Amino acid sequence: MVFITHDDCLKHKTGFRHPESAARLKKLLELGGRLEREGVVSLVEAPLADRGFIEELHDPGYVSEVLDFHGPGLKRLDSDTALSAGTPAAALRAVGAVVLGVDMVLDGDTDSAFCAVRPPGHHASRSKAKGFCFFNNVVLAAKHAAREYGVERIAILDFDAHHANGTEALLDGDASTLLCQTFQHPFYPFTGEASSKPTLVNVPLDAGAGSREFREAVEGRWLPALRSFKPEFILVSAGFDAHRDDPLSGLTFEDADYAWIGETIAAAAAELDVKTVSILEGGYNLDALARSAELYLRGF
Ligand SMILES: [Zn+2]
Repeated sequence: MVFITHDDCLKHKTGFRHPESAARLKKLLELGGRLEREGVVSLVEAPLADRGFIEELHDPGYVSEVLDFHGPGLKRLDSDTALSAGTPAAALRAVGAVVLGVDMVLDGDTDSAFCAVRPPGHHASRSKAKGFCFFNNVVLAAKHAAREYGVERIAILDFDAHHANGTEALLDGDASTLLCQTFQHPFYPFTGEASSKPTLVNVPLDAGAGSREFREAVEGRWLPALRSFKPEFILVSAGFDAHRDDPLSGLTFEDADYAWIGETIAAAAAELDVKTVSILEGGYNLDALARSAELYLRGF
C-alpha cells in the first residue's frame, strides 16, 4: 500500500479550536512514518493538481475563489469552512494525492493507496464549500479514473459519520458510479435519506448506533450492491468520525470496526479483482483517528 500525503496539507488553517486542524494530519504523518518503517506502507509525496482538471468538476468562478485567495486572515465561505493563505496549496495537494493514487493503482504500481490529506472533500458540491470541504476529492478521483483509464464502473464507499451530500449531488444518479454510505441521521448536514437504488445505497444510522448496526449495513446492504454492480475500481471516503470517542458525531463505532471495515473492503476488492484508493475525510479525536486509521490500513 502507498500512503500519499504532503506537508502543504498542514498549511490550511481553520481558526482557533477548529476540529479540522493541522494536528489531525500531524498524527497521520507520524503514523505513516511508523508504518513505513514497519514495511506496511510506502510513503509518497503528493503532487500539485492541475487547476483545469478541478474546473471540469467545480465551477471555475468558485475554483478561483478558493485558489486565488492569498489572505491575510481567514475568509469564511460557510459557517464552519474558511479559507486561509495556505488553503490553495493544501487543496491542490489533496486533489493531486488522489489523482496520483488512482494513477499508481491503475498503472499496477500497487494494489491500494491511502491519501492522508486535508482539507477533506465529501461535503463539497459544484460551487459551494461546506462542512470543512472545498473540492470533492473522491469525485475528482472517480472522474480521473474514468477519463484517463476508461474505467466504466466505479464504486464509492463512504463510512464517515456524516452524509456525503456533495458526493451524492455531484454524482447525481450517474449510472456508472455506485455510492454506498452509512451516516448518522438525522444529523449534519441534514440531507440524505435511506436509498436502495442500483447506484445509491444509503443506510442512515440512529444516534448511538455502533458496531452491530454498521456491520449489518455493510454486510446486508453494501456488499450485495457491490456484487451486483461489479465495479472495476473502488474508492473509499474514509472518515473516522463515527468512532465513539469522536466529538463530532453520536455514533459509537469501536477501534475494531475500523480494522474490520479495512479487511472487509480489501476482501471485497480481492473477490471482485479490483484495486482501491482510500481518501481521508473526517476524524476529530486525534488519538481515536490515529488508532482507527492504523487498524484500517493494516486491514489491506
Ligand atoms: Zn464527517
